[in-house]
Parts: sequence; C-alpha cells; structure tokens
Amino acid sequence: MAEDHVDVLIVGAGPAGLMLATWLAKCGVKARIVDKRGTKIFNGQADGLQCRTLEILDSFGIGHRAWRESNHMLEICLWNPDSNGVIHRSSRLPDTIPGISRFQQVVLHQGRIERFFLDAINEFSNGGVAVERGVLPTSLDIDQSCVEDPEAYPITVNLRHLSEEDATPKQSSTMSNGISAQDGLFRSNLMADDTADMLKTSELNQKANTTETIKAKYMVGADGAHSWVRKEIGLKLEGESTDYIWGVLDIVPITDFPDIRSRCAVHSANSGSIMVIPRENKLVRLYIQLTTTSKIQGQDSRTDRSWITPKVILESAQRILSPYKLEYRKLDWWTAYQIGQRVGSSFGVHDRVFLAGDAVHTHSPKAGQGMNVSMQDAYNLGWKLSSVIKGHSNRSILKTYEFERKAIAHALIEFDHKFSRLFSGRPAKDIMDEEGISMDEFRDAFQKGNLFASGIAVDYGRSLIVTKPVAENGASEATAATTSTPVTGIQDLAPGLKVGQRIPSVKVLNQSDARPWHLQERLPSNGTWRLLVVPGDVSQPGQKSRLEKLCGQLSNPASFLRRFTPNTARYDSVIEVITIHGAPRQSVDVFDFPEVLRPFHEVDGWDYEKIFVDDQSYHEGHGEFYKTFNIRHDEGCLVILRPDQYISYVGKLDDYESADRFFSEFMLPQNNLTLPKV
Ligand code: FAD
Repeated sequence: MAEDHVDVLIVGAGPAGLMLATWLAKCGVKARIVDKRGTKIFNGQADGLQCRTLEILDSFGIGHRAWRESNHMLEICLWNPDSNGVIHRSSRLPDTIPGISRFQQVVLHQGRIERFFLDAINEFSNGGVAVERGVLPTSLDIDQSCVEDPEAYPITVNLRHLSEEDATPKQSSTMSNGISAQDGLFRSNLMADDTADMLKTSELNQKANTTETIKAKYMVGADGAHSWVRKEIGLKLEGESTDYIWGVLDIVPITDFPDIRSRCAVHSANSGSIMVIPRENKLVRLYIQLTTTSKIQGQDSRTDRSWITPKVILESAQRILSPYKLEYRKLDWWTAYQIGQRVGSSFGVHDRVFLAGDAVHTHSPKAGQGMNVSMQDAYNLGWKLSSVIKGHSNRSILKTYEFERKAIAHALIEFDHKFSRLFSGRPAKDIMDEEGISMDEFRDAFQKGNLFASGIAVDYGRSLIVTKPVAENGASEATAATTSTPVTGIQDLAPGLKVGQRIPSVKVLNQSDARPWHLQERLPSNGTWRLLVVPGDVSQPGQKSRLEKLCGQLSNPASFLRRFTPNTARYDSVIEVITIHGAPRQSVDVFDFPEVLRPFHEVDGWDYEKIFVDDQSYHEGHGEFYKTFNIRHDEGCLVILRPDQYISYVGKLDDYESADRFFSEFMLPQNNLTLPKV
C-alpha cells in the first residue's frame, strides 16, 4: 500500500478546511486536504461575510474579490404588526455598526468563497497543494507514546479514493416554471450522513477503491456537522436536544414589498417570522424556521423531509409578508436543514488532532455566523500549527486553540439561543401580553448582537500569547493550561489597542514616499509576528533617546529579533518591526531612524516599507493613529501583534526586557547565540 508523510492532513474542504489549507500553503507547510465529495459547491448554502472575515480574506490578498462580487448590506429594517395586526416598518438600522471596521457586512454564496480559497491555495503552494476530491479516511490511529515529540508522525490514517461516480452526490433538482434549480438537500444534515454508504459502495466498485496510508504530524477534522474525525477521536457535541428545521429559498423575487433590497427581520402577527437577505445578481434569500424536531416527534425527521418543498417555504413567506405580494420566476437554490445548538466537549486530542468549524459547533443560520465562525476557527489554528511545525515555537501555543475558540463557540450558542427566541416568537399584542415577544426588546437585542455578529468583538483571554493582567481574566487562564506568563503589559499606554482583540485599522503614511496605507494592509497573513514600535514625537529629544535605547537592544546580535530568526531566513520572516511615529512627517527623514527599523538587505538595499507616520496625507485625510487609540506623543508604547493581528502585549516604549521575556516563553532559539543580559 502507498504511504506518504505529511505535516498536516485536513479532512473536509468546506470553508474551515480551505481556510486552514490556505494558511498552511502560505507558510510553506506540507499539507494534504481531502474531501469525500467529487465537487465543490456551486450555489446556495452559507452566504453572510462578517467584516472581520473580510479583514481576514484581505490579509490573504483575496478580500477584494469578495468585496467586489458580493452584495453589500448596509441597512436592516425591522417589520412588525401595527395595532391592526398589519406588518409595518418599525425601524431602520445600519447593518454594520459604523466605524468598527474598514469593511461592512456583505453577502456572497459559499461556493464563490471556496473558489477564492482554491485559487489562493494553488498560488501560495505553486500548484503543490490541491483539494483531493472523492477521497475519504477509513481509519485513524494515534501513537500516544510519541505525541509530545515535535518531530514524530504519531497519526496514521488510511485513505480510500472513490470513483467519480461514487463521489458525486445524488442531487435532486426542482422544477420551477420550467426551470430546474439545485437544492442543497444532498449536503443537508436533514439527510442521514452518507459516509458509511459511500464507503460501502466504493468497496464494491473495482474501478476505484484504491487505498493509501498517510503518516501525519497533525490532523484537522473540518468535516462538518456529521464529522467522522470527531467520532473517531471519541468526542461529542453537547447542548440542546431540540433541533430547528429551517427552510431556505434563493429566488429573484417579484414583489411590492418595498424593503426587498434591504436585510429585513419581519415578525407577522400570527404567521411566524422571516429573515430577508438581499444577495448578488438580484437574488434574495428567505430564511424561515419551519418547525422544531420536538414538534414532529414520532417521525424520523431526518428521513421524512418530503413535506418540505420550495412551495411550502414560499407559501409560508407569502403569509408572513401579507398584504404584500411575493412571487418568483427564478428559483436559484433551496434547501431545508436541521440545526441544533451544540458545542464540542473538546476541540481535539493530544494537541495533535483538532476539530474546526461545524465539526465542533452548530447553531441556526439567522445571524449569518456559520461560515464565518468556522473559517475563524481555522484562522486561529493555522498560524499556530505552522509556527510549531516550522520549529519556531514550542507546542505549548497549541493549547490556546481550544482555550480561545471554545469560548467563542459558547458565546455564539448563547447569542443564537437568545436571538432564536426573539426571532421566532410571536410578537406581543400589548404590554400585558407576557407570552409574546416585545419588539423593542428584539430591536435592542439586535443592535447589541450586531457587534458580536461582526466578529470584531472577539476578545481572547489571558494566556502565554495574550498578556492581559491576571485579575481581568484569572479564571479563564487556568483552563488555558498554559504556563502562566510573568509578562504583563501596561494597557493604559494605548487604551484603544485592547490586548486580546484584533488591532483596529486607521490610515498611516509611509515616511519615505507619503503613500497612505490602512495599517491592516501592512499586516498580511504570512505567519509573521509584528513588533509595533510607537515612539511618539521623535522630534523631541526625550522620545528620540528612548527610541535609540530600544533600538540599541534590538540591534544586539543576541536580541530576540535575531535569536528566533534562522540565520538563513530574511530578517523580517519571524518577527517584523514596524514603526509608527508621531512627529510631523516633514520634520524627519527615513535615515534619522536607527537601522534596525529600516534594515539593509544585501540585494534589496534599505527597506523603505517599515517606517510610517501619523500625519495628514495629500489626498486621503488623516488617520489620527495616536488620537484614535489614545496614545501620548510624549510617551509612546511597544505593541506585539500575533500573526493573526490579535494584540498580545502593550508596554513601555523602552521596555525591551518584557518583550524579550514574552517571546522567550514559547519561541525556540534558532541560532547558537548568547542571551543578552536582561
Ligand atoms: P462544511 O461546509 O460542512 O464542510 C465540510 C466538508 O467536509 C464538506 O465538503 C464535506 O463533503 C466534507 N466531509 C464530510 N465528511 C467527510 C469525510 N468523512 N471525509 C472527507 N470529507 C468529508 N450557514 C449560514 O450561515 N447560512 C445558511 O444559509 C446556511 N445554509 C446551509 C445549508 C446547508 C444545506 C448546510 C449543510 C449548511 C448551511 N449553513 C448555512 C451552514 C454553513 O454552511 C456551515 O456553517 C459552514 O459551511 C461550515 O463550514 P465547515 O467547513 O465547518 O463545514
């Protein structure tokens, strides 16, 4: 039997698996990604992209494709019954909270997002990595005796290659006005999982059915809600026993409902609720919660889905939107799927096999979180795996994956739970109607939920890579099971740059050529840590001498910049130093700054892309970096950013020692150098 050795085997090429493969390809890690399906999806399924997800896609150089092709959702309208029981618009709100990101929430179907990832993986790996379709694992074995050896391949997986016929989902198509539309039922979890059936058929098929053994250092199950990997490692999803059944219709509507091109949450007096999502290409998606499994007890709800058809979903929508009319000529896609609110008991085993995405949490589609949170799990994990595999970090940082993402999954379920009740409940007739839902409460929850739903509110707890003060998050830190780091920064030096959160973006100018950049554009996802040197007004002698003191230590051949960067690697490949000063741009020149801030490369010469200034641009305004983040020009600070742009540390400008101790906690020395005296 053929045998291959890989650093990471990814099972499942949905949004989570593809995000992970993109990271690993970008960082040059040897990975394989397999999916049991013969093709990617072409329409339907998840569609909402949060502003944080757009920031992440942009950091891989694919954000502009999503931004350009998607439908931008700027407004949400809330509709509910008036005193006569007739629906009317009660509020209009911005769909994305103004100012929280340089992007706003957009919608684009999952198939396109998957396409962007596939192209990026191909480009980053020079064609070396591609999704292997029609391939699925049949057995998994973990040699526990060597899981702590970073060089070992403790995971053995047997893979089976299916024939094209076996890997092609049997998909029904629905006729609508003579036009056939795809449904998503073949992927829907209303259907029983077909993994076992696929394996059985392939065994009988002599044409395909070749097998292969893979030895892997790490494995990630991104194989969706039915996750085979989850079952193999003995983990379970825990949570509510009742599942909701949702109907989803993607149509080009013909309607006199005036807000059809805005996102709407409509509560009717007695016919239920609907979420309207305007999409690209004049499409509109309608989400309706049809029922719960507890209401159809006695039936096997997974197999009996015959009563759910586009007609049933449309008629439901017509009742809710009455007296407005709703018809369609074009049905693009529809589905029904069953969803419970559940989170994995654990996110992996031995810090060797991990779960991401739907494999480890499931929830309703209302807030458009499914695809986003799944991708963001993988985004959190990808750089950590790469850093360990490349020998830059020890294995301790892997523990922070479950610690950070499990908290997010629980917050998501809690949000979904609260929101489901408010969305699906009957509107209160008056203030005496205690069983009904108050529409004011719904609007308030919606507004509060918007911050959560944007993905921007993610705030990771204290661990060895997030140096929050102990008191703030002491309880959570214990569960991180990481060694407690002695380093604690001084948040007050930059109150607007919150340790644990992703760095917000404003425009800064390149000192050398005056070009304005959004700060986040200078932080691409390539596996590099960043040291942001924020020296304040360097035209003042005090700040200038503090900066020179810091740079003296950074330039030491045994500084953390040099110790943790292999001699053979580029100077900014492990930790990149970026300076944002606050003196008037024209009062200084790039060569006024110490060389470590604008290093010399024997082929490329001086690096002009590292020193930025907070100043007025000629054409694009003033980003006001210092003012926005409340940083004093006569104080400045040092900021450490993780490769995923989350803030690890804020401390004093000239406190080299704390920064050195921070990196020394988990980074591995690459060169045989004497440690500096700290
Ligand atoms: P998935 O997208 O499920 O990807 C898992 C991948 O793993 C699949 O490609 C699958 O073929 C593969 N796989 C599974 N088992 C194996 C195996 N044993 N071996 C190899 N490969 C395997 N979310 C929304 O926000 N809005 C929506 O409207 C919406 N609609 C949905 C409709 C349907 C029918 C479904 C199923 C989900 C929908 N979701 C929706 C949820 C959203 O699609 C998911 O949250 C998101 O896709 C999760 O991404 P993932 O990568 O974790 O898993």
